Order: sequence, then structure tokens, then C-alpha cells
Amino acid sequence: MINVELMKVTSLVDGKAITQTEEKTMEVISPFNKEVVGKVNLASQEDAERAIESAHRAFHETMKKMPAYRRADILRKTADLLEERTEEFARILGLEAGKPIRDGRGEVGRAVQVLRFAADEAKKIEGELVPMDAAVGGENRIGMVRRHPIGVLSAITPFNFPLNLALHKLAPAFAAGNTVVLKPASKTPLSAYMLVNLFEEAGLPEGALNLVIGNGSEVGDILVTDSRISKVTFTGSPSVGIDLRKKAGLKKVTLELGSNSPNIIFNDGDVNAAAAGLVRGAFAFSGQVCISAQRIYVQKGVYQDFLNQYVSLVEKLVIGNPMEENTDIGPMISEKEAIRAHDWITEAVKAGARLATGGNREGTLLEPTVLVDVTRDMKVVCEETFAPIVSVIPFDTEEEVIGMANDSVFGLQAGVFTSDINRAMRVADGLETGGVWINETSTYRQDNYPYGGVKLSGVGKEGVKYAIEDMTEIKFVGIKLG
Ligand code: NAP
Repeated sequence: MINVELMKVTSLVDGKAITQTEEKTMEVISPFNKEVVGKVNLASQEDAERAIESAHRAFHETMKKMPAYRRADILRKTADLLEERTEEFARILGLEAGKPIRDGRGEVGRAVQVLRFAADEAKKIEGELVPMDAAVGGENRIGMVRRHPIGVLSAITPFNFPLNLALHKLAPAFAAGNTVVLKPASKTPLSAYMLVNLFEEAGLPEGALNLVIGNGSEVGDILVTDSRISKVTFTGSPSVGIDLRKKAGLKKVTLELGSNSPNIIFNDGDVNAAAAGLVRGAFAFSGQVCISAQRIYVQKGVYQDFLNQYVSLVEKLVIGNPMEENTDIGPMISEKEAIRAHDWITEAVKAGARLATGGNREGTLLEPTVLVDVTRDMKVVCEETFAPIVSVIPFDTEEEVIGMANDSVFGLQAGVFTSDINRAMRVADGLETGGVWINETSTYRQDNYPYGGVKLSGVGKEGVKYAIEDMTEIKFVGIKLG
């Protein structure tokens, strides 16, 4: 077992630990055993204001003038440093978020790739020429469209992928020449602190990245309303995201919010592959993944076969200490969340659902739970569970299942298992989601494709190249030739 030692962290402005305007601290608690794993000095609104000031200054003095090759170098160097420290970061994710250590390594590996994608993209930000002579009177004119960094970004991130989701904002922001104020989730500030130090070591100029560790309800407003911020990029729950968007005025806003992702298995689909994939798809990091499989629709011809295989695989999952190598399922982020999810299971069972497996809770550990005989109005079906709970639901026809999958306020990503390419494309067209995977679960994500939801799942796209589009402004410059 890895020894726990206490990390002491504070907000960082201009690359330096801040002297707090008011003395306020918070403990970071391991969700698994309630040990204190870190102590944090909490920022106030005044501290957040200083962070914005610093980012604003650094944008005008350094970042917007920095050439692309230099921005790419910094990103590449950060990737190399992060890769070297994979184990250290994976361990911190296990301690602060309760993420199983193997999943933590996976997150670090993806974060390294995000940085490398951004290093590549930094050199590809290009403009275009406008065919001016297409308009009457446009002869002897040259028109060009150039892309410029947008300025200061406010990046607000959730607890579930504290490293990789922060990097989905920071890496494209720096690739484009912007500066950032980062506010990580209060439950997981340690990895963010380590990451900011890594950027500094890689040569990012002072003030280009400022860290504000504070309660969202206290420091959130200024990070969204201050006129020096040009863009707010938020990943988290729909309620907070919608509130931020209302306050952001004319600023650009990207919202990556929640979902209750559907996965569909047709009679002609590979049932074995679907069952195996959906074990991780529904239960990785205890289902606390925005694209976690929550609703599994199975065509009646293979329903029982799928359910039998699925339940037997789920029952093999090892639940326990996230720091141990063989652990598949660790704790939920807090006991409050585990109780909330357990209550939803109880409520569903009272209303007629049946437990195919799981359903028990001990502290923050909630058993991987498979429900059947559910109805569309149960919370476990129609709301985002963000917990290790999945429902398996039978269906008859293609048309019917598209309707069932779309019967949701969310629309992030979906999975479809079929061997019929025509059906696959028809269903992909019919699904109201930001992304669809064929013969893969909804939970698979690669960091270089456009990712983001429709409906209540959000607005805007991440995936480095696509995030850069939203983190730059285009400006037209015309020349009238003599
Ligand atoms: P959350 O409670 O909404 O918190 C997200 C961030 O918002 C945290 O940094 C939080 O700070 C901050 N915040 C809270 N209230 C705020 C306010 N009034 N003003 C400004 N910031 C505020 O979400 P979470 O529980 O950490 O994460 C789970 C949610 O994220 C789920 O709904 C999940 O689906 C979603 N998610 C979506 C994606 C995606 O890509 N679509 C990816 C991952 C997660 P504090 O921690 O200090 O409260």
C-alpha cells in the first residue's frame, strides 16, 4: 500500500503562492477512508480578482506575442514532465478523488496525449483568404481572415477527471496564445496544483496560468462576470452550468454538462463484446463519468443472453481500496452522493424495478448495480445517476428504440451494437446526441475528436482542435491595392 502524506497547497497567482486576503483553510479528504490527504488555503473573491488581473497582464505582455513554435515547445515539455510523473499523479488522483490507481494511470496517459495534440495544433492555427473579386466592386482588393487568441479564459472544472478535464481547457488555451484562471473542484485541488507547477517548470510565463482554489459559490461569480475574462469554459453539473451561462453576458461560454447515456444492442450485434465493454462502460470510476452507460436497451431476441452474461461479469468486479492494483470499483466522491444514489435505487425498487445484481452500500462504496423492469419516469432512468447504477431495458424495433434513447433531457454520447452498417447509420442519424459510437460503448472517448453535447448536456465542443476554434477570434483584414 502507498503511504499517505499530507499535501499543503494554495492558490497561485503570477506563479507564486498567494498571501490570502483572509485566512481560510479546508481539508482534502480521501473518499475511501476519510483520511486527510491535503490542506488547502481557500481563496477569497479578492484573491480571484488578483488572479484575473495577473492573467490579463500576462496575456498582453507575453502570451499574445509568443510565437507558435514556443507555445508548442512549452506544451510538449509539459507532456514529457507529466509522463515522467505518471505514478505520482495517478496516486494523487487515487487519494483526492478515490479513483482506482489503474484508472488514474489511464487518466494521466490521456492527459499527456491532450498536451501533445495541443503542441501539434499550436502550429496549425491558420487563417484564409477571401475571394474578394466574387463581389461586384471587389476587384483589386485582398481580403484575409486571421485567427487571434481570445484573451483571458476562466476554466472551471469538476472532480471526476480533475487532471484531464483541466487539460482539455488549458492545453488548447495555451496552444492558441491565451491565458487562464483555473478553478478546480474543491474536492480535488491537489492534482490541479501539481499541474500548474508542471507548466511553470516547462517554461510557461508567469501569470499565464493562475490557480484559484475556492468554493464555487464564493469565487465563481467573479470568474464569470469580470469584464477582463473573454471566455468561460465549464465542465460540471447542468444546474451550475446553466446558472453560469446566465451570468456570463456576452462572453463566449462552453458548457460540458451531464448525461444519462443510452447504449443499444440489436439482435445482430456482438452481445459478448457489448457485455464486456459495458462493464467498464457503466462502472468505471463508479459511474462518475459524464458519458457513463446508464440506459442499456437490448433487443428482445438477445435480451436474456445479454443480461445473463452481463450480470455474471459485473459480479466479478473487485470493490475496495482505490490504491490497490486489483481494485476495479472504488468509492464514490462522498458519502452524501453514495446515499443519494442508494436512495434512487431504493425508490426504483419500491416502484417495481428489480435488482439483477448489487444495490448495497457501505459508506462511500456502492455496489455495481444492475436494474431491470424499470420505467421511463424513474430517477435511475430519466436523471443523471452519476453512480454505479445501470438499467437494462428490452425493446422490439429500431424505430421504438431510437425514441426510447431520445426520451431524455440530455444528449451527450451514445453506443450502438449492430453488424448491419445501414442500420448503424440510420440509428446514428436518428440519435439526438453530440456523438455516437458504433460497436463501442457511449463511454469511450478519445481526446482529438469533437466532443460535447446537445440539449441539457451542454454547448460548444472540446477535443483540442475544436476547442481552439472557440478560444480564438477571427478578424478580417482587407487591402485595397493602388
Ligand atoms: P459541479 O458541482 O457542477 O462542480 C463543477 C465545478 O463548478 C467545480 O469546480 C465547482 O466548484 C464549480 N462551481 C460550483 N458552484 C459554482 C458557482 N456557483 N459558480 C462557479 N462555479 C461553481 O460538478 P461536479 O460534481 O464536480 O461534477 C459532476 C458533473 O460534471 C456531472 O453532472 C457530470 O456529468 C459533469 N461532467 C461533464 C463532463 C462533460 O464533458 N460533459 C465531464 C465530466 C463531468 P466547487 O467544487 O468548489 O463547488
